Amino acid sequence: MGEDSTGKRRDLPPPRHARTGIGYDSHRFAPGGPMILGGVSIPSPLHLAGHSDGDAIAHALTDAILGAVGAGDIGGLFPDTDAVNRGRDSIEMLTHAVSLIARDGWEVVSTDITVIAEQPRIAVHRDAMRETLAKALGLGAQSVSIKGKTNEGMGWIGRGEGLACIAVATVAPRAGIAE
Ligand code: MG
Repeated sequence: MGEDSTGKRRDLPPPRHARTGIGYDSHRFAPGGPMILGGVSIPSPLHLAGHSDGDAIAHALTDAILGAVGAGDIGGLFPDTDAVNRGRDSIEMLTHAVSLIARDGWEVVSTDITVIAEQPRIAVHRDAMRETLAKALGLGAQSVSIKGKTNEGMGWIGRGEGLACIAVATVAPRAGIAE
């Protein structure tokens, strides 16, 4: 049953226990706003450069979800060599990953996300991001945690060249699927 992000068939045992995946992403800042992050359009003189809309939170979270069930990664699901994915809405990619693991009998139960950036200030946009991501995951906002950290001025993040994001996702057998 099921297939991974590259479309390969996989023989999987029925899901029984919760599993956890981790995802990481980084994107470079480029001139011109707005900045799309966590599915929220943030007024900014900068945006996140990328083949898609550059939403590093959505990308890290998608990788965490796929990783939790061993279903590959976002690059396999949406290759950046495919013109169809240019400027793509990353929340759409996230919901696709959610439906992919649902076919294998899994659902996301919670996620914890850390954004490492000097700018923008995450706290200002946290509630909007939680609402947007929770809707994509089919969760209540209380099951979506987002934290912002600066890099204390160090390195490429400290110089304001871009931002990074780490996401952990916990998935569990869908209600009614496993005993
Ligand atoms: Mg990315």
